[in-house]
Amino acid sequence: MGAQRVAERFTELYGARPEGVWAAPGRVNLIGEHTDYNDGFVMPFALPHQAIAAVARRDDGLLRLHSADVQGGVAEMSLDTPAPQGAGDWTAYPAGVVWALREAGHEITGADIHLSSTVPAGAGLSSSAALEVVIALALDDLYELGVQPRQLARLCQRAENVYVGAPTGIMDQMASACCTVGHALFLDTRDLSQRQIPFDLAAGGLRLLVVDTRVKHAHNAGAYGKRRAGCEKGAALLGVDALRDIPYADLDAALARIGDEEEVVRLVRHVVTEDHRVERVVELLRAGEIRAVGPVLSEGHASLRDDFRVSCPELDLVVDTALANGALGARMTGGGFGGSAIVLAEAAEVNAVTKAVEEAFIAAGFTAPQIFEAVPSAGARRVN
Ligand code: ADP
Ligand code: MG
Repeated sequence: MGAQRVAERFTELYGARPEGVWAAPGRVNLIGEHTDYNDGFVMPFALPHQAIAAVARRDDGLLRLHSADVQGGVAEMSLDTPAPQGAGDWTAYPAGVVWALREAGHEITGADIHLSSTVPAGAGLSSSAALEVVIALALDDLYELGVQPRQLARLCQRAENVYVGAPTGIMDQMASACCTVGHALFLDTRDLSQRQIPFDLAAGGLRLLVVDTRVKHAHNAGAYGKRRAGCEKGAALLGVDALRDIPYADLDAALARIGDEEEVVRLVRHVVTEDHRVERVVELLRAGEIRAVGPVLSEGHASLRDDFRVSCPELDLVVDTALANGALGARMTGGGFGGSAIVLAEAAEVNAVTKAVEEAFIAAGFTAPQIFEAVPSAGARRVN
């Protein structure tokens, strides 16, 4: 749904025109998985898929919310409703953003919001961050708060962690808020310093496919929490603040010091090698060697599958099939246990790879995947 249609629907719902329309994208992470809660590196880029929100201020302390993508009418709540503990319905995301902004001392007196999103929900493409960031940006703009993008991302993360109750890192919100067209975002999650790395697939005759396996990551909070705790244990055993502080060159010595804690060894090895893979991809892209990124992606997948153990049969099938049919590289992206994989391929190989993956899913009896091409797109912005 385009910006104009979202604005029109707002007017139908609320009987007055919106004050503006904003957009914020979903993302895929090129490389750097499960590094963001280890103070490490990530490298997402924005998808053309985005959440669009039409918004107008209110001055009576009410928040009214409507999504074109959810059954049901306009939800209405008072801004003074206390923070819910744990997930409610979808309205917790925008309500959480308003809560986080107000908690940070910003004066917000109410809003009417209608939104629509083309980011598939629960596919590991960060529909939740798109939703949070579009609302945060709209309110920042309308209430003239002057909050910088990385601080807005922090507040959105706080909304998701505390108000929605989902323990996520900072990558998704930073990607949605800060990505730019034609670039991947090289982000240091320790201090949020960032560099825009040119990532022009088309110029190199390449394509990047996103394969949504349609397997919903059914909030694997238990598995996520366990790995997070394992990483913290590894850092504690090694006497560092976070696994980010283990240099790649010292990995073998560090693993030897962990000793017979086999699971911690695997988790630490993934995180340290993954940070190193991000740095290698940055170097390759800066040198214009996009093709050479492929094998690094595939290595990353093997590490997530064998060491971090967050893959699943559908994701493995995408990667194995793509590589067997001429792809340059492939890996799961996002938290794992379902969601999406990415495939880097020559433009001329895209049809063959797509067909092979679709056929492999049929042969395996899996739900048909959703396959689309991803072009590095714009971050959050006002569109009307
Ligand atoms: P992901 O971010 O990977 O897509 P999450 O579980 O983090 O998955 O977020 C998905 C949730 O975000 C949905 O269950 C829903 O509550 C909310 N959401 C996403 N898109 C929309 C939308 N267009 N309208 C309403 N809620 C949405
Ligand atoms: Mg999410």
